[in-house]
Parts: sequence; structure tokens; C-alpha cells
Amino acid sequence: MGKRSDEETADGAEQLLDLPRLLAERGVSRRDFMKFCTAVSAALALPATFVPRVAQALDDIKRPTLVWLEFQDCAADTEALLRAANPTVAEIVLDILSVDYHETIMAAAGHQAEEALAKVVKEQKGKYIAVVEGSIPLRDGGVYCCVAGRTALDTARQVCGNAMATVAVGTCASFGGLPAAAPNPTGAVGIKEAVPGATVINLPGCPLNADNLTATIVHFLVFGKLPAVDSHGRPLFAYGKRIHDNCERRPHFDAGQYVEQWGDEAHRKGHCLYHMGCKGPETYHNCPTQRYNEKTSWPVGAGHGCVGCSEPQFWDAMAPFYRRLPQVPGFGIESTADKIGLGLAVTTAVAFGVHGIASAFRHGDKSEGAQEDTDR
Ligand code: SF4
Repeated sequence: MGKRSDEETADGAEQLLDLPRLLAERGVSRRDFMKFCTAVSAALALPATFVPRVAQALDDIKRPTLVWLEFQDCAADTEALLRAANPTVAEIVLDILSVDYHETIMAAAGHQAEEALAKVVKEQKGKYIAVVEGSIPLRDGGVYCCVAGRTALDTARQVCGNAMATVAVGTCASFGGLPAAAPNPTGAVGIKEAVPGATVINLPGCPLNADNLTATIVHFLVFGKLPAVDSHGRPLFAYGKRIHDNCERRPHFDAGQYVEQWGDEAHRKGHCLYHMGCKGPETYHNCPTQRYNEKTSWPVGAGHGCVGCSEPQFWDAMAPFYRRLPQVPGFGIESTADKIGLGLAVTTAVAFGVHGIASAFRHGDKSEGAQEDTDR
């Protein structure tokens, strides 16, 4: 992430970036850069012919401004972004953003920091990208989260309402997340509900996968618009398929081989975690392919069932985490993935009540409901 010095505050103008020089300074070869362009193109489901176009666009990029707001959060999404021990190409691509405000990593503090934010909003109206981490409390006038004497709601309305686009990182910023769990004492909601007029794309997950943020930003820089999204505002390239569709334990599900107890032989052999409460069959996210920690592993790969953290109404709709999803008659090796998914969606909707029903129906018209969030 490009951390700016105190002298490098927003100047209201786009800055040309010398990417080849930046790569050379970081010790990144042109070959590594092209590998990154290939990987991010694949993540975005672009054909291989787009790779040179992505590379050319990033070469020619102008430096847009980004502000990162933290509200009711645990800073896990910031941690996810900064997790790499060594500079990666993805970090360098994020370096091409001019980060003018980020409470956790910026050098400025107090009034100086707030002045930097106010300057961006005033001088770059409609030109900057806002990233929001954490939910926004609406109850009692929003008093449960205040920064610099202002409520999160007031800041979000001003900053996100005047941004070119807002990226909600993590489940709290997308849908309210853990702070919104019953009884939701602060009236926590996601950014789209708090600022309905803002152009928002949701990247839920607890935490978000930083690779998906990188791909979203690259898409925006290369094509000048946000990627196509589902009915929950999530980009289809990352949330278009269920965990269950790409899970490495799926052959065991189809073969009826399940873990029945933590540490049993089936668990040691890597069998399916469905009976242990895995929510992969009704969770949409690319965890199995993108993985975490530089693609080292992911929760199901490490032996724990999916808890459905990228879905709306997480946590309430997914708890208790160790309760098995409803039994679907006829699933097993004789059933196709589509049949299993349909059965689970319908049966789970009954089990999870109103929220689950609404979620299941929204998933049902995913492809038809896919839309370009904006056409900037
Ligand atoms: S139920 Fe969970 S562990 Fe089993 S195949 Fe599906 S996602 Fe993987």
C-alpha cells in the first residue's frame, strides 16, 4: 500500500506513474509483472488475450486518490492487505493508488489527518475511490461510532457520497457483519444501506481476500468501471460460485465420505466437513481457488468447515456453525452439483427463516440479476 509522506498530501491533480521504474526499484522483474497480469486476468475471468491489455493499461495508469475509512471494525481487512512479509507485485499495484487517508497506516494524526480527508473530498469530488472497512451504526443518531467528533454516518455520507466509487471491504462494511448480529445494539448496517445513493461494490469476507481487492481495483483502472456484480453487490468474478463448487473435499461429498467427529479417521484423511456444519453449499466466494496468506491455505483446507462469512446476515443466518445443514434426500454420487445446490438452497431457506428465504431467492436469479454496478 502506498503510504504517503506528510509532504505528499492531495494536490487535486492526477499524478503520472512511472511503473517500470517503480517495479525496478522494488526488485520486481518484467517477467514477474507479466505473471501478475496473467494471474489477475484469470481471477477476473478474462481471456488470455486480455493479458497484454491489462499490462499496457497498468503501464499507462494515472495515479488516482484513495481514502480508507474505518468504522465499527477490528482492522482485519487492513491486516489482510498488509499481511505480506515481502513486497509483492500486488502491493506495487496498490502502490499506484495515492492513499491520502488511512487511519491505521498514515503518518499524520489528529487535525492534520482530518484536514487531509477534507481536502480530498473538497478538491477531488467525484474523482477519488473510497474504501470502507467496518459497519456503520444508525441507532441513536449514530453516536456509537465517532471519529474526530463526527459520527461514522456523517463521515460516510460526505466521503462516500462524493466518491467516484466506494469499495466495501469485509462483511461488516458490506452487510453489517458481526456488529449487526442480534440484537444489533448499535443498529449497525453496511455502507450501501447507510448511504443509499453511493456507488458501492461489496467485497465481503471475514476478512476480505486482498487478492479480490487487487483484482477489483485493477478492473477499475483498466476498464474504467467496476466489475459486474450479483444481487448483493458482490463481483461475480469472486462471488459467482459457491465454496462447494470448487472445494477440494467435494469428491468426498459426492462419494458420501464425511467427517463425523473432529480428529476421526475421515478428518485425518481430508474427507468432507458437511456433517460438521460446513456452510460451503450455500456460500458464494472464491476461497478454494484464491486461498489466503499468499495462497498457502484456506479454512476448509485447514480442516474447519466454512462458516459462510461472505453471506448477508452473517452471523445470525449461519449460526450455529457446527449444526449440519438440512439433509437433502437423494444427494450423493447419484446427484449432480446443481441438484444438490437447488435442494440445499430450498431446504436451508426453511431452516433459516425469513433471512434465509430472502437470501435463497436472491441467489436463484443470480445470473439474470447480474448487473454492471456502474458504467463509468
Ligand atoms: S460441504 Fe464443505 S467440506 Fe464438503 S465439499 Fe462442500 S464445501 Fe467442501
